[in-house]
Amino acid sequence: MNKLLKVNRADDTIINSKYNKTNSFSTTSNGFILFDADKTISFINEEARNLLKLDVYPMKDQHILSIFQHDISTIIDDHIDNVIKENRLEQFDLMISEFPVQWMRFMMFPSQTMEFTLIILDISDEYIKKGKISETQEINSIINETAMKLNKTEKPKELLDSLFHRLSSTLDLDFYFNYLWNKKDEKLHLMNYYGISEAAADRMRVLAKGEAICGIAASKMTSEVMEHVDQSDDRRLDLLKSIGIKAYACEPLISNGKLVGTLSFGSKKRGSFTQEELDLIHTISQQVTLALYKISIVEEMTHNTNSLQKANIHLMQNEKNLRDIFEGAQVGIIILDNEGNIVDTNPAACSILGISEEECKSLQVKKFVSDSNEIPIEVHWSNLLTLGKTNSDEYMIHRPDQTERIISFSASKDIYHEHHMIIFHDITLQKSIEQSLINEKNVAEKSNRTKTNFLAMISHELRTPLNSIIGFAQILDDDKKDPLTPKQEYRLGKILYSSKHLLQLINNILELVRIDSKPEKADNNNKPVNVKDAIHDCIQMVKNNASEKAILVSVEEDLEDVTILVDPIRFQQVVVNLLANAIKYNKQEGSVSLYWKVTGHYLALFVKDTGIGIPQELQEKIFEPFYRIFHEDFNIEGTGIGLTLVKQNVLEMKGTVGVCSQEHAGSTFWVKIPI
Ligand code: ADP
Repeated sequence: MNKLLKVNRADDTIINSKYNKTNSFSTTSNGFILFDADKTISFINEEARNLLKLDVYPMKDQHILSIFQHDISTIIDDHIDNVIKENRLEQFDLMISEFPVQWMRFMMFPSQTMEFTLIILDISDEYIKKGKISETQEINSIINETAMKLNKTEKPKELLDSLFHRLSSTLDLDFYFNYLWNKKDEKLHLMNYYGISEAAADRMRVLAKGEAICGIAASKMTSEVMEHVDQSDDRRLDLLKSIGIKAYACEPLISNGKLVGTLSFGSKKRGSFTQEELDLIHTISQQVTLALYKISIVEEMTHNTNSLQKANIHLMQNEKNLRDIFEGAQVGIIILDNEGNIVDTNPAACSILGISEEECKSLQVKKFVSDSNEIPIEVHWSNLLTLGKTNSDEYMIHRPDQTERIISFSASKDIYHEHHMIIFHDITLQKSIEQSLINEKNVAEKSNRTKTNFLAMISHELRTPLNSIIGFAQILDDDKKDPLTPKQEYRLGKILYSSKHLLQLINNILELVRIDSKPEKADNNNKPVNVKDAIHDCIQMVKNNASEKAILVSVEEDLEDVTILVDPIRFQQVVVNLLANAIKYNKQEGSVSLYWKVTGHYLALFVKDTGIGIPQELQEKIFEPFYRIFHEDFNIEGTGIGLTLVKQNVLEMKGTVGVCSQEHAGSTFWVKIPI
């Protein structure tokens, strides 16, 4: 049976509240609004918006009365004043529309934090069906007091204990159980209870939907009342019987259509409840649901606020880090607005622009750009706005003190809302060093050319008289008509030997100058060369030198008969030079052996001797022009050019050259050339 409860208010507004066994309003959506002492909204949920039929979503900080129709806003304002000034619960019902009839229940909760809660429920159905009836003052007071307590506490256990004590003295109750619904395991968990031992509580800590009376109320989402439990054979009541319960009422707690938990009360002294008692239990459960709903929203909001605060601190820290980078960066950074005005600069930018930070701000960036630049600043600006980026390796800027600097820069569009960034660095010094290096290089090249020309000219000039000295000396040597005395012949031999040595030196210098001044492309004169034949010819050319020291020059057996494409003259010059050295720096009766192999597209040729060897640390140096190793024990003549020519020739053939050597044991020179 349904019953209506009349609530008297201090302002004489007659408030009516109906409740019945079906938890009607808790299954509909609750409007939830938080407002401050100055009546501005700090939070409003979607349900409140729907219930009040607000087309536009009220903004945070909007006045609370602005969301109500004018005719009811004054009534609501009075209640709000009571809540704010007198810090008391206000609960009242208002008809907010006549066609169709629409009644709303407004519940305003005071708060110590000066943030007030307004919960709005649509109770139209109840008003349509029922009129207003009265109820006992005691029950009213329990409900009001309960609502007050529920609102003030944020601890459900405290809340339910105080409620139970108030109720137990009025209704003669011995037990209460409060289960909360756990979404994760889909079970009811006993959170708060009174009247049973810990051991008994352990037996009923977790219930599945449909299990025991609370499980049934949770699964059906309706109130379950069990009377004369001690006389019943119903197996579902076994748990209740075991703890001595005779009458038992269980209410599902439902918020916004979703199961939150259950609240049940039991008595062991009597077998049944009166209808008034059941109605009261039902109403109390609704209040508990609202309180839990409020606690959950406040918790959620606190959680959100905490997360926001954390995010804010994180953001501030990031901003500080970025600012530190900005301030400390060695490169200049400028932030511009859409009009090209400078809005921010770092110290490096100011020092490059030769102006203080304050002076910089609000100036147009184009003020610093020299007109002498090939690409005008306007072109860069429009590139930045259309392509999102622009840059220049070299850009001339002039500073207020009339000096000029060269910078390189890159600019990016919209690093934040309509603000663009230029990063630049001063390359003036780098540019001037570059320029002086170019100048020095030009001077060096010029003097090198002069030196080379001089060397070439002098060598040429020396070669002509030297050739005639050698020519006449040979005529003297060959003259059969006037033969020379043995002494003269000996001296002429010395002249001829030294002259030929000098000629060799001059020829080498000329060759070096030729390679240095106009290096020909190695493949210009490339021809197929049979390696075995070419090596044989080279050995013939050094045969006399070898036999003078009784040195055996040989080619290893079983070598690949290969023909390569090279410049034959260069190839011969390389091999002859290496062979000549292998003989020259060899011991008496030593040996020289040659071998080669083809790997990939290369021919590797090795000239191995049993000579004096080369110290490890000098093995690189011997390829430098005019570098010779001084040997105390031997007086070996040379110019220090032979290996330089070998290296130059090999490089021109796009090959490489090197040596492996051990002092007093011998050396193996190798060249690797593409075939
Ligand atoms: P040169 O033989 O006219 O001195 P090179 O450029 O041909 O000039 O050689 C440079 C130096 O490298 C030589 O003075 C010599 O000390 C060393 N060298 C060259 N070939 C050999 C070798 N096969 N064995 C030992 N030392 C060598």
